[in-house]
Amino acid sequence: MNFSDLNLHSALNRAVKAEGYVQPTPIQELAIPHVLNGRDVLGCAQTGTGKTAAFALPVLHRMLNEPQKGKRRYIRVLALAPTRELAIQIGSSFSAYSKFTDLCGTVIYGGVNQNPQVKALQRGIDILVATPGRLLDLIGQGYVNLGRVETFILDEADRMLDMGFIHDIKQIAKRIPTKRQTLLFSATVAPRIQELATEMLDRPEEVSTAPSATTVEGIEQSIVMVERPGKIDLLIRLIQRENIGRTLVFSRTKHGADKIVHKLSKASISASAIHGNKSQNNRQAALAAFKRGKVHVLVATDIASRGLDIDDVTHVINFDIPHEPEAYVHRIGRTGRAGAHGIAISFCSAEERKDLHSIQSLINQRLPIHAGSGQEVGHIEEAPVFTPLEIRKPAKRSGQNSTGSARRRSRRHRRKPVSVRP
Ligand code: AMP
Repeated sequence: MNFSDLNLHSALNRAVKAEGYVQPTPIQELAIPHVLNGRDVLGCAQTGTGKTAAFALPVLHRMLNEPQKGKRRYIRVLALAPTRELAIQIGSSFSAYSKFTDLCGTVIYGGVNQNPQVKALQRGIDILVATPGRLLDLIGQGYVNLGRVETFILDEADRMLDMGFIHDIKQIAKRIPTKRQTLLFSATVAPRIQELATEMLDRPEEVSTAPSATTVEGIEQSIVMVERPGKIDLLIRLIQRENIGRTLVFSRTKHGADKIVHKLSKASISASAIHGNKSQNNRQAALAAFKRGKVHVLVATDIASRGLDIDDVTHVINFDIPHEPEAYVHRIGRTGRAGAHGIAISFCSAEERKDLHSIQSLINQRLPIHAGSGQEVGHIEEAPVFTPLEIRKPAKRSGQNSTGSARRRSRRHRRKPVSVRP
């Protein structure tokens, strides 16, 4: 299927072309026709599958085909997202897809001064993307009127529930007309999501892309068994490898993320952390530096990482194995986006084996374990190499001539990664 088969408004087809998209992704193929028909949709898809365009393009199409009533702009579309980063990401997708139209929107989220957001609202907008807390805050102050919203989008609904936003979502929904289109996207359709869907959606069409498909395609996954104290050294050696690119490291805790950044910096690796204890400006600056290539490694916690859309992340490294298996799918989805090739490596200590097992059950796949598994770190260093990992000490830099045998060894270690498709 091509985008032209979806019969989208010409201004949107132009934008899609400008973004370099040729074919719709599976979730787009499935969801777009239903959204165009005005149906409610319950979508099961992870970030990285193209789900933002799956709802944004048809929503924009409907807005263009049915222009607003009256002269003054009013909020016709409200999209809720769990985190500031995801909200910003959705906002920039809406603005990319609507750039050849006169529709306009804004993004509101907490942790920053509200005045610019209030000003944008007062100027008048068609599309509002928001995190629930700040939105309720501004509603309470009388700056937001949702009385004419036509489409209500809940993105990453599972994460919103995890973060305790259920009450806020219900409060917000009460302010939107009941005659509306509602689109709910979630990485998993657990019973509590079904419950929310029953409450919020009207006879929804259900569309889904299975997590196993999204994790596998384009991403080389592997596990290294390594005890906790050896993880940081292993990480440093891995990153110092000449051909390792832009790397996202996941830590389960904020404190852990800071510690990793500290150790990497001491090893002269430029790294920044992005997590909930950092101010919004700080997080944005870290993200911008990473995107520009000024920072080589971004160390993130799960919540902070949601919705991050960074091109060309070559490696995702799970410094810890997440407790929630779904988080694994989200984490590795940061690389290999929209079909690009990526590498995901997970460090697993003995006490994390149970979590690894849950991940393998969820994705219905056995992940290859790096040779040397179950050994001490020292042994892993000596182990025969499974390519995504070269855990020897990095080759000496210029001026410190490497020997011919070191070069040969290094070439040998750069064999093509083993395919891990099931
Ligand atoms: P999302 O899942 O919405 O976060 O999208 C993930 C990435 O895929 C973003 O960088 C999008 O720009 C990109 N993308 C979305 N749809 C397509 C498509 N049809 N073809 C190529 N890239 C896409």
